[in-house]
Amino acid sequence: MFLHHCTACARRQLIFPSQFTGVASTGEGTEVAFTCWCGEEQAHLLGRRAAPADRMTAA
Ligand SMILES: [Zn+2]
Repeated sequence: MFLHHCTACARRQLIFPSQFTGVASTGEGTEVAFTCWCGEEQAHLLGRRAAPADRMTAA
């Protein structure tokens, strides 16, 4: 899971793998698509350059 700042509800939410709707590999890392707790579709890059505070554990 990881912390994500939602662009729809403007909150920092913990996102769990059970919320994932898709995963894509990009040049920057792994991008996951998921449904936020507010119901909006969001995307988050699990990049190798992600700040430690923004990535709690490997999904
Ligand atoms: Zn949200």
